[in-house]
Amino acid sequence: MIPGNGAGEMSIEIRKLGIVGAGQMGSGIAHVAALNGFSVLVHDVSEERINTGLATINGNLGRQLQKGTIDEATKKAAVDRIDGAPTLADLASCDLIIEAASENEAIKRKIFQDLSKIAKPEAILASNTSSISITRLASSTDRPERFIGIHFMNPVPVMQLVELIRGIATDDPTFRSAREFIAKLGKTVTMSEDFPAFIVNRILLPMINEAVYTLYEGVGSVEAIDTAMRLGANHPMGPLQLADFIGLDTCLSIMQVLHDGLSDSKYRPCPLLVKYVEAGWLGRKVKRGFYDYRGEKPVPTR
Ligand code: NAD
Repeated sequence: MIPGNGAGEMSIEIRKLGIVGAGQMGSGIAHVAALNGFSVLVHDVSEERINTGLATINGNLGRQLQKGTIDEATKKAAVDRIDGAPTLADLASCDLIIEAASENEAIKRKIFQDLSKIAKPEAILASNTSSISITRLASSTDRPERFIGIHFMNPVPVMQLVELIRGIATDDPTFRSAREFIAKLGKTVTMSEDFPAFIVNRILLPMINEAVYTLYEGVGSVEAIDTAMRLGANHPMGPLQLADFIGLDTCLSIMQVLHDGLSDSKYRPCPLLVKYVEAGWLGRKVKRGFYDYRGEKPVPTR
C-alpha cells in the first residue's frame, strides 16, 4: 500500500485482479489485464462458465498471435497469469475486484454483499455495469468509499475507452488507483457523473432502441436499417448488428434503467426488443438475435 492524501486514506497499488463474471466483458477485461502484467483470477457461477471464459481468452489471444500483434512468449505469459476461481472466496487476496456479471441489479447486489465478506479491507470493489447506479451498488457493500464504476467497452481488447464513474462516497485514493490501473492497460478514461447509463450508453442505447422501433413499425427491414446507418451516417456497424453484439438482454436492461431512472417515456423499451429477449434470442452470444449467426453468413431474422 502507498500513502494517500487525506487523513487515514490510502491508495492501493493494484497487482492482483479478481473478476466476477466470465462472459464477454469479464473475459475481455481478464485478457487485457493479463497482457499488461496483472495476475488475474476469474470467477463465474460454474466451472463450465469459467472454462468457457478461459477458452475464449485463449482463442482471442491466439487470434492476436496469428495477426502478429503479440508473440508466442507474450501469449504464454498472459495465459499463465490467468486462473479460474471456482469460489468467490478465492478472490480474497485480490487488490481490485471488478464485477462483470449479468446486467441485473439484484444479482450484482448479492455479489457485492458476498464480496464484502471475503475481500481484504483495503481492496477496491468495482462494477463494469453499463447503466446501474454506482452509488446504489456501493451501498450494498461494506466499503462505499472504496467502490467505483469502471465501465469497459466491448470488445475490451479493441476498444480504447473506459468510463470511470464515482459514486457519491468514492474517495480520492480509490479514484486515483482506478485511473492508474486503466492507464497501465493503455486505455483512455472519460469521467462520467453517476446518472443512469452514464455517457456512452445514455446516448447509444436510445439510438439502438429507436432502430428497433423502426423495425417494429415496419419502416425498414433489419438489412435496410443497418445499411442505412452504415452508409448514410457512416457508422462502422448498423444499430441492430451492434445490439446483437452488445447482447439484447443487456440492451433491454439498460433501457429499463434509463426508463425507471429518468421517468421519461422517451426511454420506453421497444416491445419488439422485449420479445426477442423473451425468446432467448439475445444476439451473437447465443448465435441468434436480429441476425441468425448459425450459418456461414449472418442472416436477418426479420
Ligand atoms: P454476458 O452475458 O456475456 O456474461 C455475464 C456473465 O455473468 C455470465 O457468464 C454469467 O454466468 C455470469 N454471472 C451471472 N450471475 C453471476 C453470479 N452471481 N456470479 C458470478 N457470475 C455470474 O454479459 P456481458 O456482456 O459480459 O456483460 C457483463 C456486464 O458488463 C454487464 O453489467 C453489462 O451491462 C456490462 N457491459 C456489457 C457490454 C457489452 O457490450 N456487452 C459493454 C460494457 C459493459
